[in-house]
Amino acid sequence: MMPSSHSTFPNQVFVALGSNLENPLSQIRRGIMLLAGLEDSRLIKRSSLYRTAPVGYANQPDFINAVVQLETRLTPHQLLDALLEIEHSCGRVRTFPNAPRILDLDILLFNNVQHSDIRLVLPHPRMHERSFVLQPLLEIAADCVIPGQGPAAGFFAVCSEQSLECIASS
Ligand code: AMP
Repeated sequence: MMPSSHSTFPNQVFVALGSNLENPLSQIRRGIMLLAGLEDSRLIKRSSLYRTAPVGYANQPDFINAVVQLETRLTPHQLLDALLEIEHSCGRVRTFPNAPRILDLDILLFNNVQHSDIRLVLPHPRMHERSFVLQPLLEIAADCVIPGQGPAAGFFAVCSEQSLECIASS
């Protein structure tokens, strides 16, 4: 996943979407639509939509998850700010970690960037252990490699027992 210096959108990005409140299916569809309209960016691919059992705090509704591929001129932190703005515009209120949410947007991969600061960790630190991220990611990027860690397919093989159901093309 090398950036192309000739592209007008030089950065290759994968973003994960999740929702388990207030009609999650339509929240995810709306989230994908808003990502498709993101400034200085264009939507390249979208995965199917998946229904998944909650991880962490189990006493909450099932999630709908998906992954999209974008090309963007934004920097990683500009993209993070744009995603937080979309989450906010969709009515997300932060309560506690792993709590139910209207719309959660995570940057999984930004080119081959490995980065960590107080606001942003790349690649996303928990992506390799979550089948609800890896399965939709592999659907649209089968050869995807997680920088510093290895092929996403290898990690999916280890966690693929987590309950996940493909419910619709997006
Ligand atoms: P949550 O929405 O609960 O997953 O947490 C969101 C917070 O995680 C954001 O406010 C970011 O500052 C931080 N964060 C760190 N790394 C990432 C990433 N790769 N993608 C999205 N948010 C991130």
